[in-house]
Amino acid sequence: MRIDLHSHSRASDGTDAPGDLVRAAAAAGLDVLAITDHDTAEGWAEAAEAAGETGVELVRGMEISARHEGHAVHLLAYLPDPTYPPLVAELERVLQGRRARVPTMLERLRALGLELSEAEVVRAGHDTAATGRPHVADAMVHRGLVRDRDEAFTRYLGAGRPAYVERYAAPLVETLRLVTEAGGVSVIAHPWGRSGRRRPDEADLAELAEAGLVGVEVDHQDHSPQARAELRAITRNLGLVLTGSSDYHGDGKRDHELGCNTTSAEDYQRLIELAAAAADASSCATPEVLRS
Ligand code: AMP
Ligand code: ZN
Ligand code: FE
Ligand code: FE
Repeated sequence: MRIDLHSHSRASDGTDAPGDLVRAAAAAGLDVLAITDHDTAEGWAEAAEAAGETGVELVRGMEISARHEGHAVHLLAYLPDPTYPPLVAELERVLQGRRARVPTMLERLRALGLELSEAEVVRAGHDTAATGRPHVADAMVHRGLVRDRDEAFTRYLGAGRPAYVERYAAPLVETLRLVTEAGGVSVIAHPWGRSGRRRPDEADLAELAEAGLVGVEVDHQDHSPQARAELRAITRNLGLVLTGSSDYHGDGKRDHELGCNTTSAEDYQRLIELAAAAADASSCATPEVLRS
């Protein structure tokens, strides 16, 4: 079984349409794929249709933008009810924050002599609700201002760079609670990645587990072999689910090919059981995992 639990489509900042994402997963020899676009379930229906056709087992998820101790944290939520009103309201706040910062980013780029319109960013995003810096980057590439997304982030859009603008994100502990109430389960994405924040240690992760976290994304391209080994030990010690994933973004991110990291069948099984338990305990209608 080859299982990849973190991927993006055009519903956020990936470059494949949701159906193409699932077909790419089938072509890459994956048995299970989770679609985890940023802050939205928009891609689920199209992905599910392609899953039915290809035989890929589809796990519906999303990567929710959260904030903890002043730093951005990405939370992978699997199988939450996407219609649960408090979750819908929180995601709407996040999406609104994503839209609201675009004009400020464009003003800052303009001050640097880089002219770009909001319409160009919208076009680059293919009507996504989850507008992000990668779409600003794509619009810059289209204009010939930078070579690729990477250069746009390194020179202008990354944290601490001149066109960087903060945006709203939900408090992490509140988000953990929301996902549980929505009948889903939460896994912290790339916790030792390059966000610049302090690495959550065993005590921090234990505290988050108290608040509802069920798993840790250990095998991720942003983690060095040394980091993976340490984080693996902590995750096992705490009895949390351990995942490995590609964080595929299509052409939008290099070195994140589908299946480049995978999750074991045992950990996947446990994640699905915990999601079923969360769904039972909630008052929500939780989406099924689409099995072929
Ligand atoms: P935002 O959602 O607007 O905060 O932008 C963050 C997103 O940009 C993350 O989901 C990353 O996938 C993506 N990203 C961050 N750094 C880079 C980079 N150097 N090249 C391409 N994509 C990146
Ligand atoms: Zn992304
Ligand atoms: Fe992320
Ligand atoms: Fe991601």
